[in-house]
Amino acid sequence: MATSVSVRCDDCSYEEAFDSLRRARTALNEHERATGHAVEWEIGSLAGGVERAGDDAGVCGRAACANPDSPLLNHDAARDVDSDD
Ligand SMILES: [Zn+2]
Repeated sequence: MATSVSVRCDDCSYEEAFDSLRRARTALNEHERATGHAVEWEIGSLAGGVERAGDDAGVCGRAACANPDSPLLNHDAARDVDSDD
């Protein structure tokens, strides 16, 4: 499944689509820094788990640096350790 993120500026005609949140975020930040404009982004579709990861990670956008309870972390790997079978 592909990720699709649209970035659109309210203050000028800047508009662009990206296939990764990271790239969209980078472009958004650069445009805001360069122009002082307020850029919105709109997530069209996301690869599985990415949307939840974004929620977990907040402004950072990286699951690994925010919520240790993120379902993206593979807790299943340890689940069978206590089994006596
Ligand atoms: Zn702009």
